[in-house]
Amino acid sequence: MFNVERPKLAPLSLIEKKSWTGSDVLHSLRDAFYNKCYICETKEPLSLNVEHFDAHMDDVDKMYDWNNLFLACARCNNFKRHLFNNLINCTDPKLDVLRLIRHAPPVTPFAKTLTIEPTNNEPSTIETASLIRKVFTDDNTGNKDITGTFLRKRVYKRYSQLLLHINTYIDEDSLESEKVDAILRIKNLMNKNQEYSAFLRWAIIDSPELFEVVKDSIN
Ligand SMILES: [Zn+2]
Repeated sequence: MFNVERPKLAPLSLIEKKSWTGSDVLHSLRDAFYNKCYICETKEPLSLNVEHFDAHMDDVDKMYDWNNLFLACARCNNFKRHLFNNLINCTDPKLDVLRLIRHAPPVTPFAKTLTIEPTNNEPSTIETASLIRKVFTDDNTGNKDITGTFLRKRVYKRYSQLLLHINTYIDEDSLESEKVDAILRIKNLMNKNQEYSAFLRWAIIDSPELFEVVKDSIN
């Protein structure tokens, strides 16, 4: 998960209570959420929904509340429904949402599992970790094209990019200029705007020696 800073001013469609799926709302949300689902961090998924974080239950104020609108893919939205209603709020500036849930990538593209674990005992942290774990490990969903297996392969692909740069950095045969370049590329992958950023960032958080070198790029 990644922290989101949304613009203070709500889009006009919401102020006028006209539509919560208006193009101005979508545009603002896509910007603030880096075009990613806030739960699985897939970029530009096939179907990106405007989600009510706190279900509106026909309450008009909640329906058009800018702070209650999140960007989620259809699959995560479907998993969440009414079953997960005590999630970490990634737009809360008081929370460091990255560090609340440890993400460890699959060790191969075919690995049956990966690690998603809460780092504290808060019910919201535990519930959010359990939803994210379900998203990445459950293959029994309505959408046949996107499954846990498909997502794990995509995460592995991003992770293997990171490993490529780490290998260049540690390789005795690498030129100094190649090592400098590798560090710049690792730093770039530490940005929260990257797809599956939590997996990439945790790989570094879990590696103290590398963490020391690139920690300033973990925003
Ligand atoms: Zn998603």
